[in-house]
Amino acid sequence: MVGLFGALLFVASGQQVDRPVGTVRQLAPGVFSRQGDRDRRQPANTSWVIFRDYVVVIDANTPWGIREILPEIRKTTGKPIRYVFDTHYHWDHSWGNSVLVDAGVTVVCSKDCAEELLTKGKTEWARTPASSEYSLESYRMEQPGIAFGEFLAFDDGERRLELRRMGPAHTVGDAVAFLPREGILFTGDLCVNWRSGNNMGDRDADHPNWVRALNELAGWNVRTVIPGHGGPGTVKTLLAQGAFIDDVWKQVSAGKRMGKSAEQLIREVGLVRHGDFAVDAQQNAAAIRAIFAKAPG
Ligand SMILES: [Zn+2]
Repeated sequence: MVGLFGALLFVASGQQVDRPVGTVRQLAPGVFSRQGDRDRRQPANTSWVIFRDYVVVIDANTPWGIREILPEIRKTTGKPIRYVFDTHYHWDHSWGNSVLVDAGVTVVCSKDCAEELLTKGKTEWARTPASSEYSLESYRMEQPGIAFGEFLAFDDGERRLELRRMGPAHTVGDAVAFLPREGILFTGDLCVNWRSGNNMGDRDADHPNWVRALNELAGWNVRTVIPGHGGPGTVKTLLAQGAFIDDVWKQVSAGKRMGKSAEQLIREVGLVRHGDFAVDAQQNAAAIRAIFAKAPG
């Protein structure tokens, strides 16, 4: 791991990534984001916004992840963390909740996310095998103290952070966080900006609505996109993510209507023009299988 830090990373596309994972970026005064680290099983990005009297964290990460992130937050502010907003129920975005609750933080998420935490989330937690390095033993599932339907805003007169439900898309209860004054959008897994897959095969994905959600977000006044995974992006990243999902959906639906099988489509569907979104063959296959099961025949 040590070798990653401080090094310049070059990816195969020739795109230069000048910050390694695990480092903290300041996006605007009082707005920070830490890029997730897949190798340490804390792959999701975690961000925080400093208000006049308190801090709001965006995505609780894993228990072991948030324990490493808390000292990073402390380096940027002495103000108390009052809220953590989980963009969706997936383990890498919500399982750190209990660490934060024990530190006096209130969990916030959409009502549908709360329902998913209680049902699928609970089952997934219980099924997670014990591992000496990444054990859940000293942690617990935590439900939100505040669950919102469509919209919730934190506004102290100096800063405004808006939470808006966008799902069903990647999950049923997806919601995003937006700083309208700074034009910074935190998408959770509605958008990713890395070479490790796109989560399109995830069980709850509603692909057509996901594309609609991304197109809607691209119409907001967004200057910086902090995706669920990977480095910062722009409106172009949102549109490229949407175009990728839309293309897979359309190609697979058309193939299914022609009587092709999912396995045939995995061999035939061409996705190279989508660049980094489509570099993981296994994830592409999972996406095609998932879409094949859902697309009308
Ligand atoms: Zn996810």
